Parts: sequence; C-alpha cells; structure tokens
Amino acid sequence: MRKEFLLSVVVPMYNEESVAEVCYQRLLDVMNHNGYNFELLFVNDGSQDGTMAILEQIACDDKNVKIVDFSRNFGHQTAVTCGIQLACGDAIVIIDADLQDPPEQIVPMVKLWQEGYDVVYGKRNQRSGETWFKLVSAKCFYRFLSAMSDVDIPVDTGDFRLIDRKVADVFSTMQEKNRFIRGMIAWVGFKQTFIEYDRDKRFAGETKYPLKKMLKFAADGIFSFSSKPLKLMSTLGFITIFIALLIIVYSLVQKIIGRATLTGWTSLMVAITFFSGVQLLSFGILGEYIARIYDEIKQRPLYIIKNKYNFHEGNFRR
Ligand code: UDP
Ligand code: MG
Repeated sequence: MRKEFLLSVVVPMYNEESVAEVCYQRLLDVMNHNGYNFELLFVNDGSQDGTMAILEQIACDDKNVKIVDFSRNFGHQTAVTCGIQLACGDAIVIIDADLQDPPEQIVPMVKLWQEGYDVVYGKRNQRSGETWFKLVSAKCFYRFLSAMSDVDIPVDTGDFRLIDRKVADVFSTMQEKNRFIRGMIAWVGFKQTFIEYDRDKRFAGETKYPLKKMLKFAADGIFSFSSKPLKLMSTLGFITIFIALLIIVYSLVQKIIGRATLTGWTSLMVAITFFSGVQLLSFGILGEYIARIYDEIKQRPLYIIKNKYNFHEGNFRR
C-alpha cells in the first residue's frame, strides 16, 4: 500500500479563461477533501486570452500551484508532456482543464494506484454534450487504431489518467516529437488498469480541437504506432499489378481476335485513373513517414518555456 505520497496534477490550458478558475477550485476541493499532499501544475500552452493572468493570480495566492508558460502554442500533447516532465509527484494525474473529466474521479484512481497499479486510465462510458460527428469519428478512430496498431492501445480512453513515478520517468526519456501520449503510455507497459466514468459536457468555452488538430492527432496515433500503412502500400501495389495484368491479357485477346476498336478508351481511362490514385495514395503514406523522420532528425526542443512560477519556493524536490 502506497501511503505517504505527493500527488501531481497536470492540466494543459489553451485559451481557457472561462474555466481556469473553476477548474482550480474543483481540483483544490478534491485535494483538500481527501487530505492529499499535492501540487497542481498548469501548463499554459500559448493562450492568447486572459488565461495566463488568471493562473498568475492563482499561483500568487497558492504555493501548491506551479505554472509553466510556453512561448507559443505547442499543442495539447506537448503541453501534457512538459507537465509530466516537470512534475515531482509519486503519482501524476493528467486532466483536461474544461472539467469534461470529473476531478472527483481522481480519488478512485489514487486508490487503485495505492493498491499497486502503475497506470490507471479513464475509460469513457458516455460522452454527453459532444457533437454526433465527434462521437462517431472518435468511435471509428479508436477501433481503426487498435486494428492497425502494433501496441495494445485501449479503446475509448483519453489522456485522463494517473501514472506512477516510474512510468513518468520512462515517458520523460521518450524523445519523439509527434507525440501520441495514450499510445506511448500503453507502450511503456507496467501494471495497468482502468476506471469507467461518464464524460461530462465542457464546462464553458469551446473545444480547442478543431477538425485540423483532430486529423493531425489521428495521424500521429496511426503513423507513430503502426507500420501497417507502409505494408498496405505494397499489398495495394501487388493487387493493382494483378488487376493490370488481367486488363493487359484482356486487351491483347481482344486485339488478336480482331475486336479492338476505340472502345479501348474506357479501359484505358479506368486503368490510368485507378493507378494514379493508388500511386498518389502510396506517395502520401510514404510522405507521412518521411515527414515524421524529418521532424525527429531536426532535434529541436519539444517546447520552449517562457516563464515558470513557484518552482523554487515550494517544499518540493524541484
Ligand atoms: N489544449 C492545449 N493546447 C491545444 C489544444 C488544447 O493545451 O493546442 C488543452 C485544452 O485547454 C484542454 C485540453 O487540451 O485542457 C483538451 O482540449 P479540448 O477540451 O478543447 O478538447 P476536446 O475535449 O474537445 O477533445
Ligand atoms: Mg474537452
């Protein structure tokens, strides 16, 4: 049983002025109510609204609150990564700022961790207040990903989870730039379990995941955790070559028996369009991997911190 411990809660924030204060209060309630020894680590991911001012005020009044302020928007997954890397806790909880993941669920997560689990992730039962598009696309995406992926990534889970210090340490050494955290933590292993919960509506404000970010996120999940698309390319290549052979034989036979006329135009067009489609698709898939290789070899830092607050004052290790 893990008894004396420090709990870190990592919260990424991007333009969350309408929820920042409430989020802090709800988390604080849960922490105090359960008598946890805690630190709250807010990562301001280059917000352009009043989020930072609110956070600064909170950190000024409460030394258990640490803030990292990014120089610009680096994205949700990078913000969470930074939080995990800077957290000092024996257990670290990752939670969204918008209260879609109920902070009260941290309590059962901590219980399971105390019993010896190293990762406790939240599995979404119901998701209220989401558009049907988000629900359907998420459902399909998680199933598609688990079919494609070489790692066993649990379906219908987000990043809301608790991880043990040792998982965080391993995670922090993982250098990849296009990060898909739920996959990376699944990949790490250790003793993992889950709790089920109902995902609430966003408390206020609107989603910071427009379609473009969602697509990039989905691509990271698939291309970083599976090489099947590459293999699919060659399979696709073989199939089309086979079809092409059939067409060639067919046209030759037509020619030999003297029935070749301008009618061949149709098959020609079909073949050309079909094969160009396959080729473009294949180049696209290759491109996805090459772009990722390029990102890795640049060796740029994952994020740039403009300012840190409360990192020296507290009674914590860092
Ligand atoms: N977020 C972030 N950087 C971004 C986009 C989002 O730090 O570029 C944070 C956001 O503030 C929130 C969490 O990531 O705390 C999840 O975002 P959101 O709730 O908008 O996503 P959704 O729940 O709609 O998928
Ligand atoms: Mg949300």
